Amino acid sequence: MDMHPDLEQVLFSRERIAARVVELGRQISDDYRNGNLLLVGVLKGAVVFLADLMRAITIPHRFDFIRASSYGKGTASSGYVMLSGQIEHHLADYDVLIVEGIVDTGRTIEALTREFTRSGARSLEVCSFLMKKRPRAVPVVCRYLGYEVPDRFVVGYGLDYDERYRHLDCVGILRREVYEL
Ligand code: 5GP
Ligand code: MG
Repeated sequence: MDMHPDLEQVLFSRERIAARVVELGRQISDDYRNGNLLLVGVLKGAVVFLADLMRAITIPHRFDFIRASSYGKGTASSGYVMLSGQIEHHLADYDVLIVEGIVDTGRTIEALTREFTRSGARSLEVCSFLMKKRPRAVPVVCRYLGYEVPDRFVVGYGLDYDERYRHLDCVGILRREVYEL
C-alpha cells in the first residue's frame, strides 16, 4: 500500500507490527499460564492493538475497557488525565494487564495504576505497543513493549490525530504541516 500523504515517514509496516504482536502474545501467554489474565484496553487508541494481541494470546483470558483522555484535539498532553467508563470485572479476582497504544509523559499509566491498585487488582502490569524515547517526569515500567519511538507525533494502528488516521495499518510520523497552521 502507498504511504498516506499526511505521513512524513513510516516507522512500522503492517508486517512488522504483526510479527511483533505475535511475539508479545507468546510472551504474555507464557508468563500468565498459571494466572487469571484480564486485559484492560485503554480507549480509544489501544483498540486495534488489543484486538490483534488477544488473538495472539493462546491462554484463556478476558478483556475489558477503560477510557482515558488527556490530549483533547492537540498533539501535546494537557497534563490532566480523565478516566471514564465502567470496568465490568471484579479486579481483585484478576491479574490485570493494562493494554495501551502509546506511552508519552506516563501520566495516563500513572492514573490507571493508581485506579486499579485502589480497586485491588491481584497483580498489575503494563503492555504498551509504543513508548516515546524521551525523559519522563513519571517513570513507567512496561513489562511488555512493542517498540520505542522517537519523540514525534505518530499516528496509525489505532492512534489518531483529531480522530483521524486510526485505521492506518502502519504506524508513521505525522507531517507537522497537518497540525501546525
Ligand atoms: P501520556 O499520558 O503517557 O502522556 O500519553 C498517553 C496518551 O497520549 C496515549 O494514550 C495517546 O492517546 C496519547 N499520545 C501520546 N503520544 C502520542 C502520539 O505520538 N500520537 C498519538 N496519536 N497519540 C499520542
Ligand atoms: Mg488521541
